[in-house]
Formats: sequence, C-alpha cells, structure tokens
Amino acid sequence: MNMNRLGWIRGVAGWGRRGVAFLLLFLGWGVSLPAAEPAGERKVLLVTLDGLRWQEVFRGLDEAYLDKEKGGVAEKERPLVIRDLGAETVTARRERLMPFLWTQVARRGLLLGNRDRGSRAAVANTAWISYPGYNELLTGHPDPLITTNFPRHNPNVTVLEWLDGRPACAGRVVACTTWQIFPYIFNVTRSRFPLWVSGRHSRLDRVSPKLAEIQQWMDDITSKSRDEHFDGFAFRAALDLLQTHRPRLAYVALGEPDTWAHGRRYDRYVYSIQQCDRYLREWWEYLQSQPEYRDRTTLIITTDHGRGETPADWTNHGESTPHSNQTWMAALGPGVPALGEVEGGEPVTQGQVAATVAALLGEDYRVAVPEAAPVLPQFRLAR
Ligand SMILES: [Zn+2]
Repeated sequence: MNMNRLGWIRGVAGWGRRGVAFLLLFLGWGVSLPAAEPAGERKVLLVTLDGLRWQEVFRGLDEAYLDKEKGGVAEKERPLVIRDLGAETVTARRERLMPFLWTQVARRGLLLGNRDRGSRAAVANTAWISYPGYNELLTGHPDPLITTNFPRHNPNVTVLEWLDGRPACAGRVVACTTWQIFPYIFNVTRSRFPLWVSGRHSRLDRVSPKLAEIQQWMDDITSKSRDEHFDGFAFRAALDLLQTHRPRLAYVALGEPDTWAHGRRYDRYVYSIQQCDRYLREWWEYLQSQPEYRDRTTLIITTDHGRGETPADWTNHGESTPHSNQTWMAALGPGVPALGEVEGGEPVTQGQVAATVAALLGEDYRVAVPEAAPVLPQFRLAR
C-alpha cells in the first residue's frame, strides 16, 4: 500500500463514522479503490503572453510612451496612467505593473532576459513573429520553412502532442488560447488533446455549464480583432479547464499585449499586462488550493517574440524591426531554484522551454526530437 492510498483512506476516515462504514462497505463488495496518482506527480502550467517586451517586464511603465504620437495616449489620460502604474524607481514600477511576477515569482523562482543586467533570452528563428515563435517554443526548434503566420497545419509535432502520446501524460494535456492560428500550430488534424480557442467552436470532449456560459458572453461581446477575442475569456476558460480536466500539462496563450501594441495604444498595452499578471496569480492560487497541484506544479511564463525598442518601432516586430528577437522567461515551482532575477550567464533560447517542460514531467524530449534545444540550465532537473 503506498502513501497515496493511505492518504486516501485517511481522507475517507476524516468524513467520520459514516465515511468509515462506507469504506468498509466499499471494500466488502470487493470493489477496488480508485487508482491513486503516483506520489509527488509533477504538473506544469505553461503560459505565453504574446508580444510582451522584456522592457516592460523588467522596467515597468515607460512614461516616455504616454503621449499621442509615441503611444497613442490622449493628453488627459497621461496623469491617470501614471497614477495607476507610475513610481519613482524601476523596482517599484515593475512591481506595480506585474505584482505577482515581482513578488511571488521573483522571490521564490527565477526570471531570465533582463538585458539591463546582462541576462539574454531570445528566439532562434529568424522571422521574429508569432507562428515561427510558437513553433520554436512548442516543438523545441525553429523550422526554416515556417516564416509567416499563414494558417497552415504544422508538420512538426509540439511537445504537448508528444507528451499526450506518452503513457504518463496520455489524456492529461490541455491547451487554451486566444489566437485562432493555434489549431494550425498544434495541427488539430493530427493532435488529439483538448484545445479551447477564443471566438471559435472549441475541440473539447466536454463543456461544463460554466464554460458554456463563458462562451455565451464571448459570443455577445464584439471581438477585439478578427482572429482573437479578449484575454479575459481565455483566463476564465483556462480556470475552468484546470478545474474540470485536471491536466498534468496545461498551456495557456494570451494575446492582448500584442494587439494593443500593434494598435499603438501604450495605455491599453500596459493595462493588459497588469491583467495578465492578475490572471497568473489567480491560476496559481487556484492550483495551490488543490492537494494534487499544491507544491507539485511548475509555472513557466514567456512570450513568442520581442518588439522594437524605440518610440517609433515599439509597436512592431519581425526581421525588419531590430532587437525584436529578444524575449524573457520566468518560472516558479518544483525544479526551479530561487535565483530571482538572473544576472549575466549564457544566453537562452525559446526552444529550450519544450525540453524543460518535458523534463519537469519526467520525460526526455530530446530522445524523440534530437534537434530540440536542451533543457534550460538554470532548472534543477534530472537530465
Ligand atoms: Zn504581433
């Protein structure tokens, strides 16, 4: 009898005399106990925040963008944004913008990519846009043939699809995304794990009443852009998927920071970043409230590309926008040492996330995909 089964019986005994009677009846019938999950089974929540620059993550609000010309911000709005997110120091500013990241994650986990401190993270693909970025992140390597966001089914297998085919994770992988190109990135003609996509009919084996209501609200509200809805819907849908599907690996892809940046609305860009940080905190708090996830779940947060670094080109990214290959990563939970904000060190690439996610779940991704980038060296994992 392993510890989990003991724990289960203790839990049942905790119901009181009626619970014990029920247990005896249960055993008397010769019915086997529900399969207990392996002791200490690890879980992963991977989150991407599309097009969120390392500059805002590590420096917080940049007041230089709070005007009509550079940031599309009306003059009367400027003092209000400063009131909400401004502060005297970089440390205080970034904590106001992303309080979960700079209290919980920075104190007990790690952050990579602050170039002001010599930590470098970047994509290895040469396109510096979303589909090539997500392909690299989720398959572990860039594909030189994927250079646009054209909706084409991905010939490459993502680490989600691969893990969904491994016995320890089979049927326990879910994804929740705002951008409607993800069904192509995951190649839903081939992959089988549940995928929820904003503004679309999703491929789920079951839809809870809560999720049905979320989708009803989503249908009633005008979408923010042609190919994705507001992040708030994906936030709620992801919470529901965690509650109802109980995955070992969940991937959530949010998109508002990129949308507002392309639209040259720096105020909306920073407010959407602040919301993303709150979503992260709420997911994390939910997971920590659940015995099967508490202290067993590793959170990894990153992005798909950077953006320009000047008031003229911060709205854009791609090979013609200098430095928009620059990214960042953050992590918290088992396997993540409390290094805080990493200074210096060897550069890391987005592709390293795939093997790292697999390693956190006890799998060696590079045996199957030798071209995948290695596990992030900052993590404490068996390699
Ligand atoms: Zn973009």
